Amino acid sequence: MIDNLYKKILLSDRLALSKAITLIESTKLKDRSKSEKLIKKLYKKSGNSLRIGISGSPGVGKSTFIETLGIFLTNKNYKVAVLAVDPSSKRSGGSILGDKTRMPELSIKKNAFIRPSPSGGALGGVARRTRESMILVEAAGYEIILIETVGVGQSETEVAEMVDIFLVLLQPSSGDELQGIKKGIIEIADLLVVNKEDEFKDEVTRTVADYKNALSLLKKDKNSINKKVVKCSALNKTGINEIWKIILSFKKLGRKKGWIKDKRSKQLAKWMWDDLQKNLFEKIKGNKKLISEFAKLEKKVSKNIISPTEASKKILQHYIKDNKS
Ligand code: GDP
Repeated sequence: MIDNLYKKILLSDRLALSKAITLIESTKLKDRSKSEKLIKKLYKKSGNSLRIGISGSPGVGKSTFIETLGIFLTNKNYKVAVLAVDPSSKRSGGSILGDKTRMPELSIKKNAFIRPSPSGGALGGVARRTRESMILVEAAGYEIILIETVGVGQSETEVAEMVDIFLVLLQPSSGDELQGIKKGIIEIADLLVVNKEDEFKDEVTRTVADYKNALSLLKKDKNSINKKVVKCSALNKTGINEIWKIILSFKKLGRKKGWIKDKRSKQLAKWMWDDLQKNLFEKIKGNKKLISEFAKLEKKVSKNIISPTEASKKILQHYIKDNKS
């Protein structure tokens, strides 16, 4: 089965790709060992795409933008994959991002692959599955990966940590909504795009100016991209060419100066530690021999008899002792 999937993915078979991603998303142990085998085989064939993260609040126009940018790119003969990190999928029990029905035109393009976000699971798990899906689509020859996420909390940082370029879509703000500028966003974004210029021309102009001003106050980092603020209309397809030109210039400079390589090296190292953290945690928590001991400690912590720090230390000691014996 794995050999078959491996061969078909290398031939860019979309059905095989979907099946492999389903395998990755499965929480069954049996599937996990299969998907690990597949990832191991395909790993060396990955890494050749440009990875772009796209974030923004709900309603800002992410799916419209991805549809427009995706079509623009497939028309340029690029192979484009859309993946999603959806922090709310657990609550809604289904996919709200990267959904095919939200990108009807792009989803029927021969050169596009759209994967709805996996539902359920902890955010850390979603990040792992997205990273692994990224390996699969790269091995299948997709040249540009758009990773969509909602601009709330942790998921934004998670995505920023797995891409080469991070783009944040912004809503045009009306009046003196300067408080709308989120410092955190400016720090993680490489490219800020104010959308809906067709409908809110003045607001867009003002928002662009506000963000440019905020950027100018930010300390310049010589070793990274020179952040930019631009406007567009995802609906009317304006500004897309300029955005693509900026992305290409980021890529060119990033390659020349080694920024993208450095970024990826750091991301890979982080991936390893994240994985270890998760695996170790699962191993400790799942240790049947120690479960009652852990339950006792948990009770003591709940009743404020001992501190959480002390208890977690004890758990680790129990685990180490158990492994020695
Ligand atoms: P998402 O929740 O961020 O994925 O946002 P959607 O792409 O679903 O868009 C939310 C709403 O904004 C929809 O009604 C879109 O038609 C609208 N929208 C998206 N882009 C634009 C744009 O460029 N101009 C205008 N006027 N409306 C837009």
